[in-house]
Amino acid sequence: MCDCCSAEGRDASYRCGPQSKMVPARLYKVFVGRVASVKLCRLCDIHLFRSGETRFLAQNIQFAQTLVSSKSSSDGGMGLFD
Ligand SMILES: [Zn+2]
Repeated sequence: MCDCCSAEGRDASYRCGPQSKMVPARLYKVFVGRVASVKLCRLCDIHLFRSGETRFLAQNIQFAQTLVSSKSSSDGGMGLFD
């Protein structure tokens, strides 16, 4: 499941097809000194590539908030960060 679509409540398998592969992506600008490792569906990957990290996160606020809560959680939260 695409981390972004899942956070945004979208159905990635519907958007991309049930056989779609998840693409590993790294977000470098979300937090200073931290790299967020996420899995994105093809559409989100293209969106991220075309929009850039900042605009991508601005357009996927729920996803951005998921990243924030994952970082602030003491036990590592969703484990998105290296
Ligand atoms: Zn997605």
